[in-house]
Parts: sequence; C-alpha cells; structure tokens
Amino acid sequence: TKSTGRNGYHFFEASMNTNAHKQLQVIQDLRLALERKEFCLHYQPKFNTQDGVVIGAEALLRWQHPTRGMIAPDDFIALAEKTGLIVPIGEWVLDEACRQMRIWHDEGNKHWKVAVNLSAVQFSNDHLIERVQTTLARNGLPASGLMLEVTESTAMHDVEASLTILDKLANMGIDIAIDDFGTGYSSLLYLKRLPASELKIDRGFIHDLAQGSGNSSIVAAIVALGRTLNLRIVAEGVETEEQQEYLTMLGCDTLQGYLMGRPVAPDQFMNTIRAVVS
Ligand code: C2E
Ligand code: CA
Ligand code: CA
Ligand code: CA
Repeated sequence: TKSTGRNGYHFFEASMNTNAHKQLQVIQDLRLALERKEFCLHYQPKFNTQDGVVIGAEALLRWQHPTRGMIAPDDFIALAEKTGLIVPIGEWVLDEACRQMRIWHDEGNKHWKVAVNLSAVQFSNDHLIERVQTTLARNGLPASGLMLEVTESTAMHDVEASLTILDKLANMGIDIAIDDFGTGYSSLLYLKRLPASELKIDRGFIHDLAQGSGNSSIVAAIVALGRTLNLRIVAEGVETEEQQEYLTMLGCDTLQGYLMGRPVAPDQFMNTIRAVVS
C-alpha cells in the first residue's frame, strides 16, 4: 500500500527518532566498550606476490557487542571519530597489535610487520608520535615490525602537516602505507615527498578488474607510478584466482584478500596461512 505524503512524513520522522536513539545507545555502549574489553583484533595476511611468502598482517578492529554480536568497523568508526573515542580506542588497537606481533616475532617470524590503520583524528593528535614510541617500547617490538596505514585522503588533507608527522614516523623506522589509494586526490608532487613505502590500491578497483577494463588500466598506471616512486604496490580485496593472476601479471608486489586469507582471530592465523603457503 502506498503511504500518503503525510503518512510518509510521519513514518520518516519516527524512523529518524529511532535512528537517533539507536545512535545515542551506540555512543553510550562505545564509551564502555574499552573498559568491558569488548574490542578485539582480527588479522589478515599479506603475501609477497613473487614467492607467496607472508610478509605480515593487517590488524582489523572488531567489536564484540554483548547483545548485538560482532560489529564491523564501518558501523562504528565514524561515530568513534565524531565523539573523539577513536583516540583511546586507537591507542588500544596499536598496543594490542604490537603485543601480538611481538609474540609472532618470538615464534620465529621476525620479518613480519603488523599494519595498523590510523584514522584522520588520531593522525592529527599531538601525542601520536610519543604514543607510538612508548607503545613499541612497552611491547618490545622494533619499529621495523610496525606499519601504519593512513588513507590517501587523510594524508592529502593537509599535506605539509602530514609530511611533518610521516617524516617523524619514518625516521623512527616505521613503514608507512597509503591506504585506499586512487579514491582521493593525490598531488603527485606531494606523493613523491611522502616517506611512504607502500601504496594500497583501493578495493573498488580490484573488485571490477577484468582484462581490458578501465580499472585494469588504472591498476597498471598505479603500478607504473609505484615503480617510479619506489613504492611497493599492494592489491587488497583479492577474491578470485583470476584477479590474483592478473594482478601478479600487472606487477603488484603484495596481495591481500579473501582468496588467500580472511581476517581471523590471532589463534587461527597460523592455520589460515598454512593452508595457503603449503
Ligand atoms: P581498510 O583499511 O581498507 O581495510 C580493508 C577492509 O577490506 C577490511 O574490512 C577487510 O576485512 C576487507 N577485505 C579484505 N579482503 C577482502 C576481500 O577479498 N573482499 C572484500 N570484500 N573485503 C575484503 P573491515 O575489517 O570491515 O574494515 C573496514 C574499514 O574499517 C577498514 O578499511 C578501515 O578503514 C577501518 N578500520 C578497521 N580497523 C580499524 C582500526 O583499528 N582503526 C581505524 N581507525 N580504522 C579501522
Ligand atoms: Ca587499511
Ligand atoms: Ca584499504
Ligand atoms: Ca577504508
């Protein structure tokens, strides 16, 4: 049945209220989530394209809500940023990721890096550098065991400020990845000056990849750009063998995606990669 404009309006209003109410509830829950230890990290392996060796893992945040179940980051990160809660949450993420990578290093995987996502709010926080330094020290993880991922739009938002922060992190020996590359508006001049070691091609380009498609030309262009600027090119969101073969042929250095391994809890990580490597 078609609703009248009036009913439609009322319906809309009611759903707005529920949404606003829901959002408030989520904010309240978010405030308590750290205390209640409801967050956890899942890890997704990153593979070197040439020899198939694991070079590390990306740490991805999950929220185990007591009544709503597992909540994906896209459903709460924006709220966490808006409320500033992303700063303490992000500090927890960094600490937990470093703690886990130290364990994997001790188990003999000394060359692995853990990649941690930084939101724009954390990135512009005055204490970032100091926090990163103390977190590495506390966990006994060398700076070479950490990679920080910032999105292209975060890095390009205030390029001079980004350069200052990224230079400091890079000088500490931390690797920098430019995430979601191709969705922002990079100035090539600044890109050249950024002390990054990795460009991660946005998942959207990988998803619709097919020989001769527009996206395949874009991926090829990003690979060429990476060669010129001496950056490793990472393709994420690799779901099919066709994509894997094609991205390898195009010259991507690193592959990450459901095909080779979904993000998993740390205790399942070794099983996940064993299934791929052997
Ligand atoms: P991202 O940094 O671009 O992370 C990659 C996302 O792609 C992850 O989603 C991952 O699970 C997903 N993915 C990996 N392989 C595939 C694939 O083959 N197919 C498909 N369809 N997806 C794949 P996830 O874990 O839901 O995270 C979403 C976004 O949330 C991340 O995008 C990142 O922007 C943000 N995020 C996650 N963890 C953190 C965190 O600790 N801090 C901050 N600030 N942001 C985070
Ligand atoms: Ca990322
Ligand atoms: Ca990405
Ligand atoms: Ca993203």
